[in-house]
Amino acid sequence: MEIVRILLGILFTLVFGGALGMGLAVAFRKFSIEKDKVVEDLENALPGLNCGSCGYAGCAGYAEALAAGTDKDLTKCKPGGQSSLEAMGEILGIKVEASATKLVARPHCLGNNEKALKKYEYAGLQDCRAAMSQFKGFKQCEYGCLGLGSCIKVCPVDAISRTGDGLVQVDGDLCISCGNCVDICPTGVMKMIPFDADYYIACNSRDKGKVTKGNCSVGCIGCMICEKKFPEGAFAVKDNLCVINYDERDRDDSRAEAAEKCPSKCIVKI
Ligand code: SF4
Ligand code: SF4
Repeated sequence: MEIVRILLGILFTLVFGGALGMGLAVAFRKFSIEKDKVVEDLENALPGLNCGSCGYAGCAGYAEALAAGTDKDLTKCKPGGQSSLEAMGEILGIKVEASATKLVARPHCLGNNEKALKKYEYAGLQDCRAAMSQFKGFKQCEYGCLGLGSCIKVCPVDAISRTGDGLVQVDGDLCISCGNCVDICPTGVMKMIPFDADYYIACNSRDKGKVTKGNCSVGCIGCMICEKKFPEGAFAVKDNLCVINYDERDRDDSRAEAAEKCPSKCIVKI
């Protein structure tokens, strides 16, 4: 009788344990499949450029973090734009706001080898940050483009190239708005502007006008001609530097005239 009770106990344990294990295995498998499907859908919604602008090593990392809920910010993929944002929102059941205009990077400097004076001849590592660490760069203007191409190295789509005269340029059609170049640029001369901008200020100097004029023949001297002459326009001078208010670009046509009147010729047509 005792043996029968023991055998029944063992049998019950085996049956109950087996059923529980199978249940858990099925639930785990179902959960994994569902989770993998979400990750897969999110990855498909992303552009697959693996540019790192989201802060993850690649699109898969971002998709996994969103699916796991460890990252709730759907706006980190700049190249994906509105279409990725909406697709990801739909997958995760989150309502998304309309995104801003597509942006592209532009180096805001025309101070090439001829136009900008140098402090000293730099012979170090061909890297803008290395150059900047030595007396804030080799140019007299500490805000300009050093032209050594740190930005070129981090651009995932080869949108940046050397001009051949000490500066770099961006192909706006290739730029995917990842912002890597802006992040790495040690002088802050690389900035994002709207893709459909017709003009930009090709200077980044915040030195006083007299100093800027002594450093570079095409620097913004903060004279305020643009701001004063075109009060309805899109210009404002802040910290000795002109900035364009791109929100006004649809209704404002004063930029062409301002570009003409600018004594430094740093309001440049794109
Ligand atoms: S834009 Fe900035 S990172 Fe690129 S070359 Fe000029 S200084 Fe260097
Ligand atoms: S130019 Fe700058 S913002 Fe545009 S894709 Fe290259 S690194 Fe990214």
